[in-house]
Amino acid sequence: MFWWRNEVRPGVSVAFTDADAGNLALHVGDNPDDVLNRRAQVEAAAGLGRRCFQYMDQVHGNAVEFIGSFGRGPTADAMVSAVTPSFAEVQPLSVMVADCVPVVLVGDNADGTPVVAVAHAGRPGVASAVVPAAVVQMRHYGASNISAWLGPSICGACYEVPEQLRADVSALVPAMWSSTTWGTPALDLPAGVRAQLAELDVTVEYSGECTLENDSLFSYRRDSRTGRFAGLVWTHD
Ligand SMILES: [Zn+2]
Repeated sequence: MFWWRNEVRPGVSVAFTDADAGNLALHVGDNPDDVLNRRAQVEAAAGLGRRCFQYMDQVHGNAVEFIGSFGRGPTADAMVSAVTPSFAEVQPLSVMVADCVPVVLVGDNADGTPVVAVAHAGRPGVASAVVPAAVVQMRHYGASNISAWLGPSICGACYEVPEQLRADVSALVPAMWSSTTWGTPALDLPAGVRAQLAELDVTVEYSGECTLENDSLFSYRRDSRTGRFAGLVWTHD
């Protein structure tokens, strides 16, 4: 079910699902009832009770949405949740990936409650700084002491791209410049995210393994008809 799971702060857990949890995306041609059943199984395994993970319609952009209560998923590539005067609970959040970097962020509010976020950091998202945008929104909602967990994604030694694309993207985020193990141009997505977080003084607690090299994770580059796994954050007793 979970590739990685940890209670990262008292009452706050972060997890990344694996291929055994199955495809969690509704947009890849899978049977919707099967997808919703799998999402419910993940929620049960996380101990969510009657709460649900909020998913979003991801479009490789850099929009960040605040989630105060569960509802129809926003069109966005990052979500933030926190306790506010209008919302009494931090909402469980989910980001879906298969090679892009699933980023989970947790910070502390002045009143002791957590401020949480997820972000979908693929090539366009890293180039357009979706993760820094999420950090800015978290700070807007009072977060300090922010840490990040980067789930499994395609690594810088596997993510082959055309020479011009490597030049264009690494002009924006130099840390993404990479080469494959077979010597062709590549991009290193997690290195790009780590560099962006370092600039914002966000501590990276975990940076996951390579999806292309692990059959127990979904990889779009290995199989373009693949499912999606999820990065998750939720609060609990
Ligand atoms: Zn790799």
